Amino acid sequence: MTQSAATPEAVSAETFDVIIVGAGISGIGSAWYLDRDCPGKSFVILEAMETFGGTWHTHRYPGVRSDSDLYTFGYSFKPWTEQPVATADRILTYLGAVIAENGIDRHIRYRHHILSASWSSAEKFWTLKVRRGDTGETLTFRASFLWMCQGYYRHSEGYTPEWEGMADYEGRIVHPQTWPEDLDYTGRRVAIIGSGATAATIVPAMADTAAHITLIQRSPTYFNPGTNADPLADQLRALEIDEHWIHAIVRKKLLEEQKGRIHRAQNEPEAVAREMLAAVAAHLGPDVDLKTHFTPRYRPWQQRVAFIPEGDFFQPFKTGKASVVTDQIERFTPKGIRVKSGQEVEADIVVTATGFNLCVLGDIAFDLDGAPLDLAETVTYQGMMFTGVPNMVWVFGYFRASWTLRVEMIAEVVCRMLQHMDAMGAKEVTVEIPPELSGWQPLPWVDPENFNPNYLMRDMHLMPKRLDLPDWQHTQDYWSEKDRFAAIDVANPVFHYE
Ligand SMILES: Cc1cc2nc3c(=O)[nH]c(=O)nc-3n(C[C@H](O)[C@H](O)[C@H](O)COP(=O)(O)OP(=O)(O)OC[C@H]3O[C@@H](n4cnc5c(N)ncnc54)[C@H](O)[C@@H]3O)c2cc1C
Repeated sequence: MTQSAATPEAVSAETFDVIIVGAGISGIGSAWYLDRDCPGKSFVILEAMETFGGTWHTHRYPGVRSDSDLYTFGYSFKPWTEQPVATADRILTYLGAVIAENGIDRHIRYRHHILSASWSSAEKFWTLKVRRGDTGETLTFRASFLWMCQGYYRHSEGYTPEWEGMADYEGRIVHPQTWPEDLDYTGRRVAIIGSGATAATIVPAMADTAAHITLIQRSPTYFNPGTNADPLADQLRALEIDEHWIHAIVRKKLLEEQKGRIHRAQNEPEAVAREMLAAVAAHLGPDVDLKTHFTPRYRPWQQRVAFIPEGDFFQPFKTGKASVVTDQIERFTPKGIRVKSGQEVEADIVVTATGFNLCVLGDIAFDLDGAPLDLAETVTYQGMMFTGVPNMVWVFGYFRASWTLRVEMIAEVVCRMLQHMDAMGAKEVTVEIPPELSGWQPLPWVDPENFNPNYLMRDMHLMPKRLDLPDWQHTQDYWSEKDRFAAIDVANPVFHYE
């Protein structure tokens, strides 16, 4: 631990060089890099929940799994040795092993919910107010640098739209993010609202037990059905190649394949859409109306595309265990849901797979020298730092590629930046838009033409702004950013050190 300054606040505070916020896949990965590249730095990971994993701990709905492969969603430094797409439990086991093997557990404080963070320009320190979940105490922590790994959505509650008549509905309404442990759906009629990866996971997981499932979607989504195996990984494993090699090779191969797929989707969207629909059609069989229910109205990859292992999502529609209604919901009725066409879907349970509430900086009240921070008034540098906000990064991963790729890229830059600060004796770093770019108009965080998931569209006004220049935005393009991040010169005048 570093020495506390002598203010009364500081006397009772625990003080660290770095505080990492959140023990999800981002926080654990960032801690690994900090430990490796800046071994002299004291740090703590503050986590609101009682255990690690973030997303993979919160989501407990039937079948919960990744939609990308773990060779790229896992870390570069820890081999993934199982089927590419994994359940939440397997991902938690993997993260647990990373924590244990690297001694990260001694840095984590669970049940530590950060309420506020105040920057003092005089002291060049952040002061955090933290509520302990077990004792109810409010503690004070101080740190020179905040590494925000709190994710992008509110963990306490998912997003459920308000529909007329919900109060009169006689069945049970559940959101996948807060799945009740006691929910028994054996022999029940279930309506699932939504068309994303969550709905696509829940349908096959519930289909055999429920009486019938009706998927109600406003509009269709793209899916990527395939086999949950990697032939190259299996072949290398059969040859008893070292798992570190297999991980590195398969990771590179998959990234190359994904690059080809995404760039093709951008350049030849119609052809790619046709191919994706043909793959879905092959799983659905001739009796399902592909045009109405599985043909999206947007271009492929404008939203995340979920991988569907063995096409399992489509089977219940083929066999009649599930059906799909593509229409707008008009209202809830006592027995179920009525859609605009007048059809009523009767259901004992309604699952609202309607997404997240965007959460900016973990709902932590930030201030800079007492002035509340509105992140929406800042401009982002590389989607990781923000003009006017000192000594802070937000780890915002990828959606079109695996989230974690960006966790590692950001970590590598942050460690170089911290080393540079030490070398020059600086206590503060901020990013500044160079004078020659002052004429550029700040724009919303992401261009909806590029990427437009609903939770971002709903709350884009809360997010920082970008400039229409690669360095001053989160491009969502791993393949261009990977070289740019590696080339970031932390001595560049964009970084202002004091
Ligand atoms: C069901 C599901 C499946 C997904 N599948 C994939 C996938 O296959 N591939 C992919 O790339 N992405 C996927 N994602 C996106 C996924 O959320 C990210 O990839 C990744 O798990 C995010 O990790 P994170 O550590 O940044 O954030 P989170 O997992 O959200 O973890 C953040 C942590 O910070 C803690 N925290 C937040 N605020 C505070 C506070 N104020 N004080 C203290 N602690 C705080 C939280 O409790 C949490 O533990 C999926 C998301 C969901 C919901």
